[in-house]
Amino acid sequence: MDSIGRNAVVIGGSIGGLLAARVLADRYEQVTVIDRDALPEDAVDRKGVPQGGHAHALLITGRMKLEALFPGLTNELIAGGAVRFDPGRDLLFHQMGAPRVAYTSGKLGISLSRAFLEHTVRRGVAALPNVEIRDGLTADGLTGSTGRVTGVELDDGTTLPADLVVDASGRSAGRADRWLEAFGCPAPPVGTVKIDVGYTTRMLRRRPGDRMLDDALLYLMAAVPPHDKRAAAVFAVEGGRWMVTLGGWHRSHAPVDPQGFDKFAAELPSPHVAELLERCEPLSDGDARKFTYPQARRRYFEYLAQPPAGYVAIGDAICSFNPLYGQGMTVAALEALALGRSLDRCRSASSAMARRYYRSAAKAIATPWQMATGGDFAYPETVGRKPFGADVINRYARQVMLASHVSVPAHRALLEMQHLLAPPSSILHPMTVVRSLLAARCSPARR
Ligand SMILES: Cc1cc2nc3c(=O)[nH]c(=O)nc-3n(C[C@H](O)[C@H](O)[C@H](O)COP(=O)(O)OP(=O)(O)OC[C@H]3O[C@@H](n4cnc5c(N)ncnc54)[C@H](O)[C@@H]3O)c2cc1C
Repeated sequence: MDSIGRNAVVIGGSIGGLLAARVLADRYEQVTVIDRDALPEDAVDRKGVPQGGHAHALLITGRMKLEALFPGLTNELIAGGAVRFDPGRDLLFHQMGAPRVAYTSGKLGISLSRAFLEHTVRRGVAALPNVEIRDGLTADGLTGSTGRVTGVELDDGTTLPADLVVDASGRSAGRADRWLEAFGCPAPPVGTVKIDVGYTTRMLRRRPGDRMLDDALLYLMAAVPPHDKRAAAVFAVEGGRWMVTLGGWHRSHAPVDPQGFDKFAAELPSPHVAELLERCEPLSDGDARKFTYPQARRRYFEYLAQPPAGYVAIGDAICSFNPLYGQGMTVAALEALALGRSLDRCRSASSAMARRYYRSAAKAIATPWQMATGGDFAYPETVGRKPFGADVINRYARQVMLASHVSVPAHRALLEMQHLLAPPSSILHPMTVVRSLLAARCSPARR
């Protein structure tokens, strides 16, 4: 395919920026990715991605979209130590007071650390002949004129001219609004949902082949709203490790000191995490890591009648989801693919292209945003704009969750919805409704 332009610049070399670079490399002669961090040679956490040391689930749709962008990536990650699992059988999901009934879904999931995923994707992007990744460089502003962005100002005083600038600078990308407004480009409206989520994480040594109670390789726990706000995730990841993340909504956070952490685990509604903590060696002494996430944040670029030409945002720079739903990386992949399609259609980084892209991105965001924020409003402390019908949907979803304790079809319906393999409307299929309402009565959590 003929190239669409000479050069594209991506601000931010994390998952969103790397996926954008992959798509742009097929369409621009030269792509430059800049990141303010010194990017590590190995799969280790870094300052610019402080969430990286905490449990990151890659949804099945996310894995498939990454595979479409980097053919062979799944096998490369498994060969490097990512743990393969069946999300119906090997992931024990304890929700609404009991675990979902196990079944073989036939879907391939991979469990790995965020650092390992980013490292492997970065290696794939760095190997592309027309992509340059420049680290230790901070974007300080944009250049342009009314309605058009023409480049990026760097902290070393130089400017990188670009036909297209992709802003993948993460949750704090709101500052780009000021950069844009400086030359008359409108900033998008912003919506927030206050959830006060906290993550506290410890790593444990995992013996080869080790599993948790009930043969689980992964464990997720979401307590029963509205009074219990706790959550937990345990993932077997590469490098012979268990990653144990404890926390919850609205300041129901786990302590960082080992005794407090163990106590939080011991009081969870199932013994899985406490049992693991008791028998596996911790990989570091001292306090656990903590990350707090006050609010989900969405920038509604699709509402702009005329978004600036030469500039688009991607990933958390558009929408930062409540991390407890594990959606951010998958949505970034969907947006990267949408960007490629929009560029192919418009053949230039025009305002019309940006509008088309933001509309597609909004479609990719709509379902996960509605699922996450809708779920968050099961807690009365949540502040923000409640999605239409959230209370009714939450009441019904609760029945499907109870049904999933005993009914494979109910578990399958939830699994496919949560992994973005089926739309939320799939749980409203009349057959699913009837089956779920009947099965919910038999849930052990009812007793
Ligand atoms: C605690 C937590 C847990 C999460 N768990 C999951 C999960 O289970 N599953 C999932 O899919 N997602 C999860 N997410 C979301 C996920 O981390 C992000 O969606 C994903 O990293 C994509 O983000 P991004 O690339 O858009 O931005 P980020 O990952 O935030 O990266 C932004 C990049 O931009 C760079 N940068 C910032 N400003 C500048 C600048 N001015 N100049 C140059 N470089 C700059 C930073 O150094 C960084 O590399 C979680 C998030 C949090 C907070």
